[in-house]
Order: sequence, then C-alpha cells, then structure tokens
Amino acid sequence: MPVELEAYRLCRRCAEREGGGSPAFEIVPGRDCFICYGVMDQVERMSKVAASRARPYQLRTFSVGVSVPDGVQEREDELRSRMKLKGSETIKTQAARLVAMQVSRELGKKVDRQRPDVNLLVDFGAKDVTVASKPVFYYGRYTKPAGVAQRRSFCEECRGAGCRKCRNTGYRRKPSVEGALREKLGRLSGSKKMTFTWLGSEDEESRVYPPGRPFVAELKNPRKRRFPRNFGARLKGGLVSVSAGRVLPSKPVRIPSFRFVTRIKATASTRVTPEALSELHSRFIRTPVTFERPHNRPTVKIVYKVTAKARGKTLLIEAELDGGLPVKRFVSGELVSPSVSEVLKTEVGCRSFDVLRVREIGEFVFAEVTRVKEEN
Ligand SMILES: [Zn+2]
Ligand SMILES: [Zn+2]
Repeated sequence: MPVELEAYRLCRRCAEREGGGSPAFEIVPGRDCFICYGVMDQVERMSKVAASRARPYQLRTFSVGVSVPDGVQEREDELRSRMKLKGSETIKTQAARLVAMQVSRELGKKVDRQRPDVNLLVDFGAKDVTVASKPVFYYGRYTKPAGVAQRRSFCEECRGAGCRKCRNTGYRRKPSVEGALREKLGRLSGSKKMTFTWLGSEDEESRVYPPGRPFVAELKNPRKRRFPRNFGARLKGGLVSVSAGRVLPSKPVRIPSFRFVTRIKATASTRVTPEALSELHSRFIRTPVTFERPHNRPTVKIVYKVTAKARGKTLLIEAELDGGLPVKRFVSGELVSPSVSEVLKTEVGCRSFDVLRVREIGEFVFAEVTRVKEEN
C-alpha cells in the first residue's frame, strides 16, 4: 500500500482541519492524535486561562497568538505533503481562532488582528498565557514649584546599580517631576516601565507656571488605558500638577517645537542704565540669535521679545524665546550671540529663571497604522 494511503489517526479537530471525512483518517482521542498529541483538546482550558489573564486589562480589542510544542507543526506539514492536502488553516491558526472565539464570548470584546489593545500569547507547550498590551502615550502639561527637578537622577553612591542609600532603586531620593509622574501614572495604569519625552527643560530651582510644560509618557504594557485630564502629586518640595492630559492615538513620530516666556533674575557686574534697558528692548524683536552648541552644529533660534527692569545691578528680565535656546547662556552670552550681556555691554549672570508660558508650535505627527499580515 502506498504510504499516502496509510490511515492517519487524528483527533476530531485535526481531522476536520485536514478536510474531514477522508477514509484515510481514523478518529481517535486527542492524546493519540498523530499531529497534535492532545493540543486541540486543551483549547477550552487555555481559552479560560487566556480570558482570566486578560480580565485585569482595560481593553476594547484583543488578538490571540499561539505557539505549539515542537514537532506539531512539522507533523501537520508532513501529513499534508504526503496526502497532497492543501489546507489553508494550520493547527496554529485554528487554535488561535477557536481561543479568540471563546475569549471574545467570555469577555464581550472584539478581535482586532492589526492593532489590538491586548495580545494574548497562548503557549500550548508551557500551558501558559502571556499578556502584552499596546503602550499608551499620555500627553500632559506639568507645573512645578522651585526645588523639584524635572528628571530623576542616578544615586551618587551607586550610579544606578542600587545600594542601601537609595533603597536599591538606583535613583536619588529627591523629589522630581519624573518621579512623581512615574508614581502616579504607574498607579493609574499598572505600568511598571515608562519613558518620558519632555518639550524642553528647566532648572531644579525654576518654577513652571500654568499652563505648564508639555510632556509625553510612554506607558509600557499598561493594564488601564484611560486617564484623568488633571491630577496632582504632593511632594516634599510642593505640588506637581498635571493638566490638559489626554491619551494620544499612537506613537508620535514627531513632536511639536515650542516657544516659551521666562522670567529671569540676573545680576550685572555694573549698574544698568535705563538707556541700556531700552536698548535691550529694541534689540530683541523677533531677533535671530546663534547658539554654538557644544559638540553639535550651530543653530539659530528666535528671541521674540525682551523686557527688563533694573535695581542697581539686579535685573528682572522677561523674555520670550524659541525652545532649545538655553536661558542662562542667552543671559551670559556664553556660546550665544547676541545675548543680554552683549547688548548691555556688561557681564550679566542668570541667578534663576521661571517658566511662565510654553506654547507649542506645530502638531504631533503620528506613525501610520501599519497593516500587519496575519501570521500563521
Ligand atoms: Zn489533533
Ligand atoms: Zn544607590
């Protein structure tokens, strides 16, 4: 008898998948199935596991991926090639489809193979389900008091490795906007891994006033996908507030540029005259200034407006600048020209500066939704 006509012993589902009623198939219990050794009998149980793993996640849509023990797919291929069968659905697609159907019924959620909120990877070998959720990109604007750094910084003792001093976190135990956001967004989303993009930065001693400085937090593998528009976090140094919060449609591939108004306290090395102040005012009206960036090509930024008051050698300056122009250098003139020092013809040093208004220029640009072919 030619080898193709050997009777294959298959379980009910495997037989159906290979075309059903061929006399060459003998229907047997799953564990005796030539292809799956009982994998298909686990579909119901693994669907229940998948649904219960998915339940803590906030989701509208999901997809199911499947892995099967070594040899299963190979035996199906072998059977198909020997019997010259052209099945379109493989054991993996069939298992994934059946699991998805049952999970959908249990959770009342829809399947989306392109951009699901949650992907359930069902491992029939390990009899386990791994959940991976699509990252959330949360946009907001923060305000902060003086004495709170924007970013957290590494522990000076261990440089990030973790030690007694930093309670094994690797970071300084100092209040920061980033630390506060990590804490709060982590609690809201269930995400343990986040990355931040800031539209510019300021000093630890700078206050940031409303409407605040924009940021985008990427929350990886979040359980929750909805967030409040406004929230606050009380720190040792005062209150960090977030407003205008929203979830972005997807990963931004380009973020807006920005300009901002800053209030600067500065000290001049000589008394500043009213004439010099009015010169400052008229010199900077949408004026391009060159910034010789260290280790980088020089860049040109715009100074929109400068007003200043003086009391002796003390200056209070209000300036509107393009994002990316460092305030302290614009005052001192180090690598920046023209600068406050240059126009006043005296050395001026910035003591502190606050951020009053940050205005976004342009829009967020998002990655196009890539249509991924359904994998087998
Ligand atoms: Zn089978
Ligand atoms: Zn440490």
